[in-house]
Amino acid sequence: MARAAPPVFQKFRDVQAELAKSGAAIFRDANGGESLIIHFPYSINYIHSYAEDSRFFLGLAEGKLMGSRCTAKKCGATFATPRGHCMSCGAPTEWIDLPLRGKIHSWTTCHFGSEAFLKETPYNLVLIEFEGIGSVMLARLKDAVESDLYVGMPVEARFDPNPKYSITDVWFVPVR
Ligand SMILES: [Zn+2]
Repeated sequence: MARAAPPVFQKFRDVQAELAKSGAAIFRDANGGESLIIHFPYSINYIHSYAEDSRFFLGLAEGKLMGSRCTAKKCGATFATPRGHCMSCGAPTEWIDLPLRGKIHSWTTCHFGSEAFLKETPYNLVLIEFEGIGSVMLARLKDAVESDLYVGMPVEARFDPNPKYSITDVWFVPVR
């Protein structure tokens, strides 16, 4: 017995609902063109090594921000991100604790984001300056709307109490 053809929809929202229910739908565009769309779930177990950056992500889980400092005596450049080697002179670096407070160097509000951030969109991305540290850190800023933000605004780190060992384990909020 032949199977019935999937139902046809003109609103993509309806296509998505049908895909979730039955796994197939036909989308008809404004010119009458038809596309068969299928639901094709897949998952990947991706095994990823942080290698030299591991201490940074372990630090987030402990509520610490780890940066790096050049070990060359004449250089001593500091970075607010993990760097195995100095960006200035190429010498090996060592880990340092970063302050948990800094200030906004620059910022933007994102009105679109990848799947992980859709629930909190629009959201703020900020570059943060730390006292005495030579580079900035990119992070999300929560508990503030676009009109609250300004260059130089004091912010402090917050950490996910259930760490995922991901950069999303840390975000910043305004210092109140
Ligand atoms: Zn250096």
